[in-house]
Amino acid sequence: MKKMEDYVRSIPDFPEPGIIFRDVTSVLQDADGLHMAIDKMQELLADTEFDVLAGAESRGFIFGMPIAYNLHKPFVLVRKKGKLPCETVEKEYDLEYGKATIEMHKDAIKPGQKVVLVDDLIATGGTMEAAAKLVEELGGEVVKIIFLMELAGLKGRERLKEYDVESVICYE
Ligand code: 5GP
Repeated sequence: MKKMEDYVRSIPDFPEPGIIFRDVTSVLQDADGLHMAIDKMQELLADTEFDVLAGAESRGFIFGMPIAYNLHKPFVLVRKKGKLPCETVEKEYDLEYGKATIEMHKDAIKPGQKVVLVDDLIATGGTMEAAAKLVEELGGEVVKIIFLMELAGLKGRERLKEYDVESVICYE
């Protein structure tokens, strides 16, 4: 029986020398890997009551949407700047490599809603910290943040210490 990590391909020196990129295309290209990833991420929410699932572009969409569908919850897009057509809130943040700005529609979260955030991977935690701040700016409460993979050495969990963070696979 294969384990979740057996489906993840690791690419040395991508996108820059010294980075080991954890590739999810190898998970998605395998029907068993895809099922296992969604099932295991969904299991992380077994005891969580929430109203909305919000995923970070773009791999957070891939893993978040099937979970929202399965649990009959709405799915909200946290997008890169300039993609959303209506009024937005935005936040700039530091990436493991570079800078970026994310946006959410102002009407995506209603005040008081309990929100779960999802992405494929946590590195420094910058993306999810920015997403959590946007949710809070809109009046939502971040009740959990889930990932398929965690790069523990980059200490993203410390950056997100005020939140309940869980991941399926942890790389030291
Ligand atoms: P952070 O903001 O936590 O530093 O970086 C996480 C973001 O960068 C996520 O949106 C994630 O998709 C992307 N990312 C960074 N490193 C990797 C990696 O090794 N593999 C994958 N699949 N995504 C990565």
